[in-house]
Amino acid sequence: MSSIAHFDADAFFASVEQAADRRLRRRPVAVGGGSRGVVCSASYEARAFGIHSAMPTRRALQLCPELTLIRGQFELYERFSGQLFDLCEDFTPHVEQTSIDEGYVDFRGRAGGPEVAIGILRAFDREVSEWLKITVSCGFSSQKRIAQIAGKANKPHGFTIVPEGSEAAFLEPLGLYHLPGLGPVTTRRLGQIGLRSIGDLVRVGPDILYPILGKQAEPLLELARGQDSQPVTTEAPQPKSYGEQETFDRETGDEDQVERDIKGLLENQLRRLRAARQTARTLGIGLRYSDREYAQASHSFPEPSNLDPVFLPRVRVLMKRAWQRRVQVNQIRVQLSNLYPAWIQNDLFDETQLRARRICEVGDDLNSRFGKGSLMRASQL
Ligand SMILES: [Mg+2]
Repeated sequence: MSSIAHFDADAFFASVEQAADRRLRRRPVAVGGGSRGVVCSASYEARAFGIHSAMPTRRALQLCPELTLIRGQFELYERFSGQLFDLCEDFTPHVEQTSIDEGYVDFRGRAGGPEVAIGILRAFDREVSEWLKITVSCGFSSQKRIAQIAGKANKPHGFTIVPEGSEAAFLEPLGLYHLPGLGPVTTRRLGQIGLRSIGDLVRVGPDILYPILGKQAEPLLELARGQDSQPVTTEAPQPKSYGEQETFDRETGDEDQVERDIKGLLENQLRRLRAARQTARTLGIGLRYSDREYAQASHSFPEPSNLDPVFLPRVRVLMKRAWQRRVQVNQIRVQLSNLYPAWIQNDLFDETQLRARRICEVGDDLNSRFGKGSLMRASQL
């Protein structure tokens, strides 16, 4: 039988802060924006006060005045993430990373069956606690998404095994929010007609669900019945970076023109990032000289973002840093990396960021409705 595990670090950012500073251990800790920001990760000690991610930090401090509120140290989280996945790969090479602190391990083809696989997973779990001083929750199943649901069903530091054949029984009592792909609005609508658990969906069947879920009904029902056909891939399903390059017809030494062109590429990639509901922390710029030598420069911001006003002002500086030789260039490249989900934006509720976000969204909307280039920055004209 195939054996797949899902692991997910518990309260990752807050736990890393506690691991890095022992004074914070066993204390309520939240990582988030300043007084106008939101919480993006809360330790379990903070959750005991009702604090959760996306809550305004002001509210969190009202609930728990002794809360230690920390501005995110994303470089530190990336380092821990690298170590977490390195540890995992020491045990098995078949790891699919799906986010900074989550991934699948594919044990198919390994000798020894599920018992050996579970043993390996337990050893990984121990190593993480011992070396990184954070915990992961693991789920184990013969099917991919059921392993994911199992991994998240008993947090923190859960270890949930779903033996083959018992998938439907495992899912049956779980609340609908355990089903990946079911948004809060749909969950509420299903709740209004009395459907609260995954088992409820199976009981009422497609006739009741189709009007609410549409095309989503069939695959969701299949999953709810414990039949998941999703294959495990060891490549990341989402890109690890966003980038684009452009080759000029003719080489140029015109810095202003090159800067405008780089900004044009960057705006495209930021639009893609926003459409994918992601943010990036690192901007890289590359150019190729007419003698084919490459040069590049990059900058990592303290926090991830996907907003033009954050990234565009950096272009000139990076371009100058890369373009050291007095030789013309014939190719440019931009890359956005160190990606995070979009909800991790510390300044989500900060006034200036909010305005910048609205401007970007209006631009995205116009460009998608009337074609690319309907709205352009003055610098691009
Ligand atoms: Mg996590």
